[in-house]
Amino acid sequence: MRSQGRPFLNCRMPINNISHHKFALHCFFKNKSRKVSSMLGLMMKTPLTVTSILRHASTYHGETEIVSRTVEGPMHRTSYAEVWKRSQKLANALKRFGLARGDRVATLAWNTWRHVELYYGVSGSGFVCHTINPRLFKEQIAYIIKHAADKILFADLTFLPILESLAPQLKKLKAVVIMTDADHMPKSAVLPKLLCYEELIDEENDEFKWPDLDENLACSLCYTSGTTGEPKGALYSHRSSVLHAMGIAVPDVFNLTSASVVCPIVPMFHVNAWGIPYVAPMVGAKLVLPGPKLDGASLHQLMSDEGVTFTAGVPTVWLALLDWLDVEKKTILTLKRVAIGGSAAPLVMLQRFAARGITVLHAWGMTETSPIAIAGSLLGRHEKLSESEKLALRSKQGRPLFGVEFLVVNDDGVPIKNDGVAFGALYVRGPWVAASYFKSKDKSAFARKGWFHTGDVVNVDADGFFKIVDRTKDVIKSGGEWISSIELENIAQAHPAIKEAAVVSKPHEKWDERPVLVAILKPNATFTKNEMVAHYKGKIANWSIPDDVIIVEQLPHTATGKLLKTEIRKMVIGKI
Ligand code: ADP
Repeated sequence: MRSQGRPFLNCRMPINNISHHKFALHCFFKNKSRKVSSMLGLMMKTPLTVTSILRHASTYHGETEIVSRTVEGPMHRTSYAEVWKRSQKLANALKRFGLARGDRVATLAWNTWRHVELYYGVSGSGFVCHTINPRLFKEQIAYIIKHAADKILFADLTFLPILESLAPQLKKLKAVVIMTDADHMPKSAVLPKLLCYEELIDEENDEFKWPDLDENLACSLCYTSGTTGEPKGALYSHRSSVLHAMGIAVPDVFNLTSASVVCPIVPMFHVNAWGIPYVAPMVGAKLVLPGPKLDGASLHQLMSDEGVTFTAGVPTVWLALLDWLDVEKKTILTLKRVAIGGSAAPLVMLQRFAARGITVLHAWGMTETSPIAIAGSLLGRHEKLSESEKLALRSKQGRPLFGVEFLVVNDDGVPIKNDGVAFGALYVRGPWVAASYFKSKDKSAFARKGWFHTGDVVNVDADGFFKIVDRTKDVIKSGGEWISSIELENIAQAHPAIKEAAVVSKPHEKWDERPVLVAILKPNATFTKNEMVAHYKGKIANWSIPDDVIIVEQLPHTATGKLLKTEIRKMVIGKI
């Protein structure tokens, strides 16, 4: 007999949902006398939980590999079936700490299989997996641990110095667990009671009775990097995480299948690695995790050895990888698509990938939008465009995913024209968009009822492609006109002398603000103010050309890899 194929996620067999059926019939008869419009559908209400994702992967893609570069050094290979078992061991171990439903369990960890186990073991137990970004300032980490009221902290070996410096703040925790085995356990005079991950789960049963969870319960927590004010928490639900993963799997977004080999370079502590630890097991893709090594040579080796077809990360990581590939005259033969987001991907970056036969998928999102909400796949009718026209279109952030809705309004609150020129403030809503911040009184971003104010300024063209003009706080207001710092950075980035560029405003008596270019040059390159003006001429209006260029050795970045404009403005004011 021919096989009927594999079940869809969330269709479990055998089906035993008599109670849902009875409930639906009850509603049907109860509603019979009412208007037809109030009639409920007669479908099951199987909850959308992240637990169901790993269960599905273990059952139907059990042998598919999860390969990690370990913090301890060597490569580690496991499978969905094995990680499913180990996440149950972990869930059994967690029971010993007497946590209550909804309690936060924090991680300070790289992308590895142990972190995947925590994602599922913690959330599936009914607790909240709180991923902390180790690149935040120590004070911010302390603030976040206290604000989230974390009960247990799991940390990679790398972060022992951070843990030790936070020792007084960790006293309230029930446990601090180092994600390693007994052989690699560190000794710490400051933190004598550290537990060992492998020892913690070793003796536990690999079967756990997962609790029945309402899909609207919280499953994970991630704080924004707090470049303005204290970090704010986005509290994702099981339902929002599953829907987001389904939303990004589709061909026009990440285009993932069981044949894909997926390598998230974006860290699992940055908005759940853009949903990849959920979507990869959902579709049964092989998962390749880079651990702590994100330099060009390590990424090239990992992706080539494991046959990676799809990867995702912020522009700064790709800049380093592309430079390394250029110097070494190498490429990654299996790599087909790179998702870039977090900050604008400059056109030159798309060109450099295209020259290697790799397509860039530009994507836009925020911690508050889980994060993916816009992705830059072309439409069918764009096939006939030239390669350079296609690249120009791909350098826009792209089109909204199904499920997410946008509103773009000008200063008067009127929706803008979709002509690719008019711009306005971007609002978003949808089932994977935050409705409020965790334990926060700050409701300002939610002031327009039912919408979240992104703080970004965009234009939209007739094909529905969104282009991020700037963040409201970074746009340069010169003589009543707006200058996009992103556009000026992208143009600068295309100059052969420039390695990385930032454009910020400096105060100006007559024009209020004027743009200044701050750049890191490539080795042995030079770049004068005259060369800068010549480079910009003809590409933008003359009055938007930066007034000055400042050459620096380094540019400051946020904990999520974005240019830290507040600091760069200070640098500019100090130098002019
Ligand atoms: P934070 O760094 O404050 O934690 P997020 O990581 O959530 O915040 O960043 C969200 C912001 O990043 C967006 O509002 C937008 O300004 C910027 N961003 C994200 N993706 C892109 C992109 N593809 N192009 C330009 N800007 C982007």
